[in-house]
Amino acid sequence: MSQIKNNYVVVNQFSRPGLKRSVTKGIIVHYTANPGASAANHASFFDGKDGGGSRYASAHLFVDAKEALCIVPLNELTYQANDVQKYVKGKAYRGAAAELGQNANWTTVGVEMCLEKNGSISTETFNRTVDVVVELCKKYGLNQHDLYRHYDVTAKNCPAPFVARPSDWTRFKNEVARKLKGDTTSDKFYTYTPNRVVTLREIGLYEDVTLKKTIKRYPEGTRLTITGIEYDGKTPRLKTAKGYITANKKNVKGYHTSIGTIKVLVNDLNYYDTARWTNPNGQVNKGEVFTVVKKVGNMYLLKSGLYITASSKYVKFTAH
Ligand SMILES: [Zn+2]
Repeated sequence: MSQIKNNYVVVNQFSRPGLKRSVTKGIIVHYTANPGASAANHASFFDGKDGGGSRYASAHLFVDAKEALCIVPLNELTYQANDVQKYVKGKAYRGAAAELGQNANWTTVGVEMCLEKNGSISTETFNRTVDVVVELCKKYGLNQHDLYRHYDVTAKNCPAPFVARPSDWTRFKNEVARKLKGDTTSDKFYTYTPNRVVTLREIGLYEDVTLKKTIKRYPEGTRLTITGIEYDGKTPRLKTAKGYITANKKNVKGYHTSIGTIKVLVNDLNYYDTARWTNPNGQVNKGEVFTVVKKVGNMYLLKSGLYITASSKYVKFTAH
């Protein structure tokens, strides 16, 4: 069954110029850099004569934790990946020109991942985007090697979480590859190495991948560092410094390490998609709370990959 619901915006010069595309050589993955705005919010934003603020910008699909909306027909062009972010020898940087041509808007489908209120890409959104991309790969005869981050094409910091943590992008492509092969192992088990997990019930620590000889038991709520993944036949197991544990998602849940949270103290506080104070991506308001991954100069890098001031005048930091 298709994950994708069509919810087309009207033809307009900015978000849906109505230009027909004839060839699809790749899929470009983006994020909205717009915490708390859903797929439906974006569908209505880009609709209308001004196409969302009279800016030449859009994408075909918007995915959130609930649904995947196609707002521009796939055989039409969207303004998603021909921006100029840097120059090389006086020419606009085009990272995948050999594969996609000088203007990737003509040859690709653009998929935007929406952000939760706290600025993160939820597991549901990640998984649904994998499913949407699998569907598009099947439609166009593509595979995991035909996937690009917006960053790979024009050097834009997008999707910021996949630029900040390239391992998440690798994991995304691996999940697509597995699903294209019809392997559903990843629905039930971790098939990549989550850096840290918390146990969801009592589990055992075992001597080897067969999980036969118990070393000890961990109670529910134990936090463990994972060092790798190994297989017992086709079944993945997680490795720790002391032994092996289950990779079943019913038993353990992965989480990203973070140093704490911030609470915003003022209204209209800018956030940025790079650790520089230019071109803010948007504003957050008093009382909003975000997870902090690390401090970079005088800014905090948030779990979403976005940056915000670290000044105690504007945000209150609480360490874990
Ligand atoms: Zn983008």
